[in-house]
Amino acid sequence: MGLKLISTDFDGTIFAEFENPPIPQSLQNLLGALRRRGALWVINTGRDLGSLLETLARAQLSVQPDALVLVEREIYVRQDAHYLALASWNNACAKDHKELFARVASDLESLVDTLQSRHRATFYADAFSPLCVLAENQAVASAIHLELETYAKTVPKLTVVRNDVYIRFAHAGYNKGLALSEIARRLKIRTSETLAAGDHFNDLPMLDRERAHWLVAPANAIPEVKQRVLSFDGYVSSRPHGEGVAQGIEFFLERVEGAQA
Ligand SMILES: [Mg+2]
Repeated sequence: MGLKLISTDFDGTIFAEFENPPIPQSLQNLLGALRRRGALWVINTGRDLGSLLETLARAQLSVQPDALVLVEREIYVRQDAHYLALASWNNACAKDHKELFARVASDLESLVDTLQSRHRATFYADAFSPLCVLAENQAVASAIHLELETYAKTVPKLTVVRNDVYIRFAHAGYNKGLALSEIARRLKIRTSETLAAGDHFNDLPMLDRERAHWLVAPANAIPEVKQRVLSFDGYVSSRPHGEGVAQGIEFFLERVEGAQA
């Protein structure tokens, strides 16, 4: 089988909070079948560990992910019933972010003052970024995103990560794509054997042929994601969320198996 590693974003891509079940049974069955054939499944999300595990437990899945990428940058690997931090990667990640954020600390107050005077959004800091934004709507988020990207160009290694109306800072050496490649490298899985699925800006780093050969976007993905996926000959589904991802995986499986037959 050509497909050995499947990296899916969580919210909006496989998980739809108001659907029942929030992760469709068809996708759970497909992931279960692929895992029995030796493929591995990674949830690659902006959520942190507590939030993701709580939501997964409530969703009562018939299949569990083999690894997690959290906050778009930390790697956890499942061992028995637990997810263990990949210490070497996560420690380097924490150290690099600490150093980077120390360099922006003196700019933050005036940056936030300027943004706050012009945009309807909540600005705050959390454990993962000294500047987080919750914008009132997509248009406001786009305007703030643009301004923060202009600022980020003045600070080496600083990037702006946006997911829906949420924005935060991160280090350019860590994102969903680089974390996926690190997992693949450790598992000795090639890019040509990897599939990635996502719906929003923070998924773009993994929706790239350098990170995964097979790319999938559900119908609800933002135009920038659909455009990217199509530009790499990927699959944009006419169905939303997990149904769309299941359709995309099946589409590529048929191609791989057809080519092998
Ligand atoms: Mg998403």
